Amino acid sequence: MAQQEDVFKKLVSHCKEYGFVFPSSEIYDGLGAVYDYGQNGVELKNNIKKYWWDSMTLLHDNVVGIDSAIFMHPTIWKASGHVDAFNDPLIDNKDSKKRYRADVLIEEQLAKYDDKINKEVEKAAKRFGDSFDEAQFRGTNPRVLEITEKRDVLHTRFAKALNDNNLEELRQIIVDEEMVCPVSGTRNWTEVRQFNLMFSTEMGSTSDGAMKIYLRPETAQGIFVNFLNVQKSGRMKIPFGIAQIGKAFRNEIVARQFVFRMREFEQMEMQFFVRPGEELNWFAQWKETRIRWHKALGLGDRKYRFHDHDKLAHYANAATDIEFEMPFGFKEVEGIHSRTDFDLSSHEKYSGKKLQYFDPELNQSYTPYVIETSIGVDRMFLSVLAGSYCEEALEGGDTRVVLKLPPALAPVKLAVLPLVKKDGLPEKALEIRNELKFSFNCQYDEKDSIGKRYRRQDAIGTPYCVTIDHDTLNDHQVTIRHRDTMQQERVPVADLQSIIAEKVSLKNLLKQIKS
Ligand code: ATP
Repeated sequence: MAQQEDVFKKLVSHCKEYGFVFPSSEIYDGLGAVYDYGQNGVELKNNIKKYWWDSMTLLHDNVVGIDSAIFMHPTIWKASGHVDAFNDPLIDNKDSKKRYRADVLIEEQLAKYDDKINKEVEKAAKRFGDSFDEAQFRGTNPRVLEITEKRDVLHTRFAKALNDNNLEELRQIIVDEEMVCPVSGTRNWTEVRQFNLMFSTEMGSTSDGAMKIYLRPETAQGIFVNFLNVQKSGRMKIPFGIAQIGKAFRNEIVARQFVFRMREFEQMEMQFFVRPGEELNWFAQWKETRIRWHKALGLGDRKYRFHDHDKLAHYANAATDIEFEMPFGFKEVEGIHSRTDFDLSSHEKYSGKKLQYFDPELNQSYTPYVIETSIGVDRMFLSVLAGSYCEEALEGGDTRVVLKLPPALAPVKLAVLPLVKKDGLPEKALEIRNELKFSFNCQYDEKDSIGKRYRRQDAIGTPYCVTIDHDTLNDHQVTIRHRDTMQQERVPVADLQSIIAEKVSLKNLLKQIKS
């Protein structure tokens, strides 16, 4: 674990050093849980967004996009439940004065039990070798049974406390489990209190009666309130979806873990409208489609898992998270929710406008049910970086840090490097770069030794380096170096465009998702 935390620290400083992510307002000592994306970060982020957007709008005839405003009528947040119901249970440690989300603390405790069980299983697997029967071991080993029992009791108690919104019981669980504050190491806890996450501001001047409005805490509501606009203007037939990418704001209390939990972040959400009664079928289909989207990136299938929710939100009848193995454990990157007709019905009630769909096949009107897929751009960004970051030992005792980014997402696709800064090589290199720059994000670099230049490109995840040497001037061939294998091959300049396009285009990723 310590080693993993170490990797995480290195990743954070790598992000700063190589222009991926900077702390916001750094020269003023920063602003809690707010970050800026640098010159490479913004390219990676844009590529992630494009991958998502194209997978939604190009691969599905019945999914279209919108871009709704961040400011919305304040009653929308009454209708969605955010004003009254969306509160996080918070607890403070009186000694360290640190504030935690009570539910997150308990979830971490559950994860500790799981870790203990897994360790026992691993130990036994080593001891018994090939004859090891894991299912039998889990079902009979007294130590495993004892921990499992404790875990299950805690799990049931936790789920009930959450569902009953029983704050005292949440606190009691923390006390009974003898959980300590990671900072002070003590068990000196306050009561659990509710806290609203929405930022508010005022629209208009106070003299004409300013209106209190909120910065949206999710992009989804902008889709719901435009449901009929899109359906009618696009002549959409159910089932259909509306996708949106945009900023969301939450006054998160426990702001740590870098861009994993920010106060200003970006979401990619898609609401898919279906016939009532067909929602669970669509829920299963979208789960499948979304996990394929993640796995197509090639970061390793074992890094993903589903985590079904214990507590369903008041609007949902099924919910799961896609979790990614971050350096600090498996964490939610995306939520998939079956939201029933809660949102549309609620907006009908609060706005007094009908939000129904006339289904010509059934010859009846109804309020559609909704499946939502909701993924955080920043968490996705972090998962891609965490899954790509490698430190490798090289021959001769040297090491390199390389980001093995999926080529389609890499900020820079290729670097064009003259071997030396003379003899007409820079001119030739620039000629090649000036041709390729219309197709790819290219960098030209002539400074320092070729080895150093390779290292710089490895550190930002550039899949290809193209070196121009003296022979190039006669044979019109260049050396292309592959980032991950460091292998080099000689190829004609005329083939560069197609060789690179084959590897870095989004098309190949998208083809993998579509079965
Ligand atoms: P968590 O339980 O971790 O707070 P959540 O369940 O509240 O997350 P959702 O409301 O389902 O999150 O939001 C959908 C997605 O938006 C999440 O899967 C995550 O990727 C992203 N997200 C939510 N809150 C944040 C945040 N504070 N910073 C960055 N991304 C976030």
